[in-house]
Amino acid sequence: MKKKLVAVLWDSFIEEVKSPGVLDSYLIYYLAIVNWITNNTRYFGDNSIKSKRLEICINLDPTLYVIDEPELSLSMELDRLERIKPSKMDTLVMVIEDTLWDLVTIKSGKDCPNCTDDELRYVLAKNESKLLLECDTCGWIEYENGCKWDGGYTQVIPASKNDLLQFGI
Ligand SMILES: [Zn+2]
Repeated sequence: MKKKLVAVLWDSFIEEVKSPGVLDSYLIYYLAIVNWITNNTRYFGDNSIKSKRLEICINLDPTLYVIDEPELSLSMELDRLERIKPSKMDTLVMVIEDTLWDLVTIKSGKDCPNCTDDELRYVLAKNESKLLLECDTCGWIEYENGCKWDGGYTQVIPASKNDLLQFGI
């Protein structure tokens, strides 16, 4: 029963992405995803509550945060999504939140020193307006100077282009 709901939801998501114009720009794509989530959160069950990142992405102002050149290619996006067949609700939520995150996080050009598998992205510690670098793969967080973050648990939000300017980057 649950599996069926996931499949139905995923089809609905793909249909949304196929709607005319949705893949015309990163901004429109972002808005379409957020719109789809807002209309379907009630089906996510506990996963929507678990996913802080999804919540953050939904509440960002995309005109400030959607980056100029995400790595994701709009012309390939439908192909990419159609190859994914989430069998669980948390996988579906994860795929969507990762997509949003890719659209709003600026990569630093520096490899993660912890897992060496991913490039660190610029984020802000939400309540301290401190610029940090985070690895999306292993969760490593470090200060701008490369020292490991020692501030304990902190909620991070993407650092926008304007934020980076303020920090002289
Ligand atoms: Zn890492």
